[in-house]
Amino acid sequence: MERAVLAVLEAIGDDPGREGLRQTPARVARMYQKVFSGVGEDPRRQFSLFRVPHQDGIVVVKDIAFHSMCEHHLLPFFGKVHVAYLPRDSRVTGLNSLTRVTDVLSRRPQLQERLTNDIADALMECLRPRGLLVVTEAQHLCMSMGEGDKYGTTAVSSAARGAMLSLPRRREALLMMNLPHTVAKGSNRPGRPRASHRKSGHGRNARRAAPRKA
Ligand SMILES: [Zn+2]
Repeated sequence: MERAVLAVLEAIGDDPGREGLRQTPARVARMYQKVFSGVGEDPRRQFSLFRVPHQDGIVVVKDIAFHSMCEHHLLPFFGKVHVAYLPRDSRVTGLNSLTRVTDVLSRRPQLQERLTNDIADALMECLRPRGLLVVTEAQHLCMSMGEGDKYGTTAVSSAARGAMLSLPRRREALLMMNLPHTVAKGSNRPGRPRASHRKSGHGRNARRAAPRKA
């Protein structure tokens, strides 16, 4: 890893021997261990469940922070994950488990859409809810740095499963998440269980507006 960072510093034309850069390869190597600690990890491990009698309505956990690395540019994208689910047999989970799933799946080269779907799939397996909605909101540094004036653009992605494929359920969940502006505009319809959508940013719309180098 240190050799690879050294090679990058040389390739960009800087002097890896100068004072400020001398320890950089070692520092980046240590940092990358943490940033990519989710590679090869199983998000379903250490998932805890408990029962809350008669908890049959939608449960929402909002604003789970995440930091990930865009696999196209190896630059950070970061933001929040919101989870809404309809418990089965009064089974619920805690913030720790949701945070752990999010950490494991975000600390690896990722794409926002896949992160959203990966979290949904892991939670469907561990929690077996009647329905699930995962929404991620993120800023992508490859957008703000690569194309100049895109600071503050937020990309939104969602994944619905089971009973949350029904529009009224999803609308209720989004209202509880305080994200009414995200209420479906046609995507994520029943019958398209894997669909995810974005409002702007790192996706197709953004690329159409400003083609960017790969
Ligand atoms: Zn990117």
